[in-house]
Amino acid sequence: IMDYNQTSLTPLNNIIKQGQKKLNNAHIVNAKKEIEWFLENQFSIPLSDIKIDKNYKLNPKEVTTFNQFIHRRLQGEPFQYIINKAPFYGYDFFVNSNTLIPRPETELIIHVAKKFGPYNKSLDIGTGAGNIAITLSLEKIIKNIDAIDISQKALNVAIQNCKQYNLSNISFLKLNFLASNIKRKYDLIVSNPPYITNIEYLALDKHIKFYEPKIALTDKKDGLSFYKFFAKNIIKLLNPKGKIIIEIGFEHSKDIIENLFKNNGFICTWYKDFNGNYRVFEAHQ
Ligand code: GLN
Repeated sequence: IMDYNQTSLTPLNNIIKQGQKKLNNAHIVNAKKEIEWFLENQFSIPLSDIKIDKNYKLNPKEVTTFNQFIHRRLQGEPFQYIINKAPFYGYDFFVNSNTLIPRPETELIIHVAKKFGPYNKSLDIGTGAGNIAITLSLEKIIKNIDAIDISQKALNVAIQNCKQYNLSNISFLKLNFLASNIKRKYDLIVSNPPYITNIEYLALDKHIKFYEPKIALTDKKDGLSFYKFFAKNIIKLLNPKGKIIIEIGFEHSKDIIENLFKNNGFICTWYKDFNGNYRVFEAHQ
């Protein structure tokens, strides 16, 4: 039984203020919110208590845990990796540094898929934390889906997320898609491939470069490897009325990518994200 006398307890308010000051000094803009999210997550303190209860106190062990959080944030580690959680389309996903942190822009794939769905057999290429495949399943947009990734460590995360949501219609498979020869046919294929170029990768923020998996971010070439492969080979994987819904990184690559697909007989429709940038396209024959 933990028994702390009153003097060994630290008022939560002081802890929050100190932590916020340190994070703000390191130019972490969302410091106050992050601290509140962390406290809610880690110690299950209701947000209302964090905000109102001036007498709420932390024991020494909790103070240590909190200080470790501040320390990791000051080192530049993304918030989501510290709490092992990231939201996507309103669902929580377990994440660690073996998977890309799901980005809100990627939710556009779900919106577009929903517009034309539902689909029977589906494929998610580069599933990462499994966020796209699992969301498509939870939203009943697909009947079943194969989720592939080159990284077993990423797949382990995706499998954990799948279990958490009790889904039985997702099959996970370790596969290097660019060197693969899949024989199945699909009604829907989705992907958020690594599209950052070798050069752009070097210029990324250190909190991305040092913590998120390189293989999820860049093809280590011109950022187009996956689009070139899709344009040439994906038709073999599609049923006659099948569609692909794919994310792109940068608007300057839109015309190049559109041409790749047009030249291979596809019709493309483009969708803008909430920043007004072309982010996702749907293509079919
Ligand atoms: N499918 C995951 C996502 O879109 C991971 C993508 C990736 O690792 N490139 O968030």
